Amino acid sequence: MSLSSPNWQALAEQTVRYLRDLIRLDTTNPPGNEIVAAEYIAGVLRAAGLDPIVIETAPRRGNVIARLTGDGSAPPLLLYSHTDVVPAEREHWTTDPFSAEVKDGFVYGRGALDMKGVVAMQLAVFLAIAGQDRQALRRDLIFAATADEESDTNQGIGVLVEKHPDLLRAEYALSEFGGHSMYVNGRCFYPIQTAEKGALWMRMVAYGRPGHASVPHAENAVVWLARAVDRLAGARLGAHVTPTARAFIGALADGLGGRAGAALRAWLDLEALREAPLLGDPTLAAELHAMTHNTVTPTGLRAGYKTNVIPSSAEAVLDCRLLPGYAPDALIADLRGALRDFPHLDFVVDSFGEGLEFPFDTPLFALIARILKQHDPTGIPLPYMMTGSTDAKHVARLGAICYGFSPLRFAPGERFFDLVHGHDERVAIDSLAWGVRVLYEVVSAFLAMP
Ligand SMILES: [Zn+2]
Repeated sequence: MSLSSPNWQALAEQTVRYLRDLIRLDTTNPPGNEIVAAEYIAGVLRAAGLDPIVIETAPRRGNVIARLTGDGSAPPLLLYSHTDVVPAEREHWTTDPFSAEVKDGFVYGRGALDMKGVVAMQLAVFLAIAGQDRQALRRDLIFAATADEESDTNQGIGVLVEKHPDLLRAEYALSEFGGHSMYVNGRCFYPIQTAEKGALWMRMVAYGRPGHASVPHAENAVVWLARAVDRLAGARLGAHVTPTARAFIGALADGLGGRAGAALRAWLDLEALREAPLLGDPTLAAELHAMTHNTVTPTGLRAGYKTNVIPSSAEAVLDCRLLPGYAPDALIADLRGALRDFPHLDFVVDSFGEGLEFPFDTPLFALIARILKQHDPTGIPLPYMMTGSTDAKHVARLGAICYGFSPLRFAPGERFFDLVHGHDERVAIDSLAWGVRVLYEVVSAFLAMP
């Protein structure tokens, strides 16, 4: 038994309506105030005869969860998303970021891509499946739109996972980032996120001898720190190729063929992954490097309190990203190696969330790849490692296999990461219509799969 097809036109129109309504609800984080989005979504679900739960994980930090029950012969599938958005600098926009204006076939607004467009698609798919004969469902389908992803205060899905794990527990989970088209040398790829790097935030502290600045000496912590930061920026840390990175680079090489493909293959086979082949695309080269290395990015300097005092210490703020399977100690040991001639340095870890890597030899991954191919025969689906981090780190604690899959189709030259968090964030209505259909086909087929 399988689910029938909804009216695609109506599904697309509904998605656009939900998206525009959500953009107009200002959920800029901080403060978030996601309760307005949660109440709106709960209202839509109730109007369809469903029974959503709204939970405030902190005052005004609203989350909404709903469930369609299957016959229980297979474990649930979770669709999860966040309703908060990053701030918008209005003066740099050509529209009001919270008016959801439609212009030239695009919906403009903060969150159009990250990720109210996906919230709208998941909601539309959930409702379309709710309206079908649910006897065909082997699995429960869970919908969760949650608060506070765009900060590190973590008052959204992390709290739900801790306090209400049974509401969210699933075998598989789908969310941002992946499933959207990416062009390399004119070929179209669909990266599906199967891994993400861990985030390690720490400080490097240099210690020296304090003194009066009128008498310079050689043990100045500010000078040592400056030299150490310079050394770090040039340090060559070893390459590590995880299964996702290997599959990504391999599929990219196959898809590109010719000289570009051969360059990628050689790079991968030799594991001499120092300088990523450019392929005429420095952004991609930087991304390939980040996908195969632990990285350290200095993002701040703190030292001194008075012009005429040599301080006894100085510190650099470091944003480090670790590959799945790596703990802070491993990176710190590498850094100490690179800085071994600096005697008075310490590393202080402020926070760490480990990287994630999920298997991709699964029935759901195969289904996603097959359906993407049906809708774009020239596109190549492939596993992908996100260099940033998402709420998957929370959902994974429930044992779920989490994929970043929120299908969208961009025009060549249009880059997802140029628009996300940027000015004039927007999504094409055609792209949403395409994406919601692909998402519906994946979800409905998977729920009915024995
Ligand atoms: Zn997001």
